[in-house]
Amino acid sequence: MNLKALKYFNELYICAYCAYCVNNNAACPTYLSVKHEIVTGRGKMITSRNLADGRLKKEEGLQALSKGLFQCTFCAACEQECMLDIPLTEVYSELKTMVQDYIPFHTKRMFSNLKVNNNFYGLDQEDRSFWASEVESLYNKFVNRKAQVGYFIGCVSSYSARASGAPVSLLKLVEKANEKISVFSPSEYCCGNPYLLGGQPNKALELAKHNIHEIERLGIKTLIISCAGCFRVFTKEYPKIIGKSLPFKVITHMDYIISLIKKNKFKFTNNKSIKVSFKDPCELGRHCGEYEHARELINLLPGIKNCEMENNRENALCCGAGGLVKANYPEIAEDVAEALIQQLEDQNVDYCLNACPACQINIDEHLNRLRSSIRSIDIMEIVLSRIQ
Ligand code: SF4
Ligand code: SF4
Repeated sequence: MNLKALKYFNELYICAYCAYCVNNNAACPTYLSVKHEIVTGRGKMITSRNLADGRLKKEEGLQALSKGLFQCTFCAACEQECMLDIPLTEVYSELKTMVQDYIPFHTKRMFSNLKVNNNFYGLDQEDRSFWASEVESLYNKFVNRKAQVGYFIGCVSSYSARASGAPVSLLKLVEKANEKISVFSPSEYCCGNPYLLGGQPNKALELAKHNIHEIERLGIKTLIISCAGCFRVFTKEYPKIIGKSLPFKVITHMDYIISLIKKNKFKFTNNKSIKVSFKDPCELGRHCGEYEHARELINLLPGIKNCEMENNRENALCCGAGGLVKANYPEIAEDVAEALIQQLEDQNVDYCLNACPACQINIDEHLNRLRSSIRSIDIMEIVLSRIQ
């Protein structure tokens, strides 16, 4: 362990211990759950500094730091609030490379699954098209074809039936608009986010190279992504990992559908009134600055009333599932989701709309547990419901 070799070593000494990252606006959601400051921005900065200065014993300090790093949902609320503009999430990512001997069990298991199966579930590559069983003929029409526009689905929506609403709805919308896209589900690998969130960025490089090769092989010039985590990895991490810009443009599924609506590609037939709130995914919002496409899309749909949660856009609350926290510390994911659900209940909405399968699943799981009547779905599902 040589903290002095870190790119962000000096940032450890910039921190003024002011605690803006702990208490302001969206605040640190995990701190509200674990009630121990090791998890906060300030706590991790102090611990790292004490380790570097020899004020903490190595083993004790690294163990504490690992806990703080892996109980953190990577929501970036601390970075948003830091009064000294420290790039905290980048500091955390670098610090994670220092605690590899102390990573939690389920993160290790994800690493071994990724090594063998190229997805963190450890499922077979041939089952990656599991999501498409409901739209088999459409899937066969779009799969592996050469096209200007391609769709990267991501592991969660590919393998989890609870999150297949985004790709299934998107394919149906593409068909209704009489457009053509390429779905390369059989050859898609994980984007590499679990390696990046787990402190092994070098291992994400192989996955990045494979995915970029597949996208270029199919001649794709614009890539649609419906998962906030994949979007962050493609737009912010891949250029850093491969050391150059991507040879294609990356857009969200919301951006793509807005462009089709503006070309009058859909005939809306359902204007039944419903109330919705959009959950800004941390990896799309605070990490990538993508806030307005969701609002624009909702406003283009007939009969939909957008009710903003008290915390929205850059102050949005985390869902609790990010940073691999749900796998390792489900009790934290539960506490954090409950705070968000309270804001959904305050708005008395019918649906929580998502642009991230991890948010969608965690929120829905806890809405069910709390016997709420609100449903958590992908934003594409509400678009499709206005047309059918
Ligand atoms: S990223 Fe989120 S959970 Fe992690 S320390 Fe910052 S505010 Fe807390
Ligand atoms: S807001 Fe920034 S400077 Fe203040 S304690 Fe948090 S990390 Fe340190």
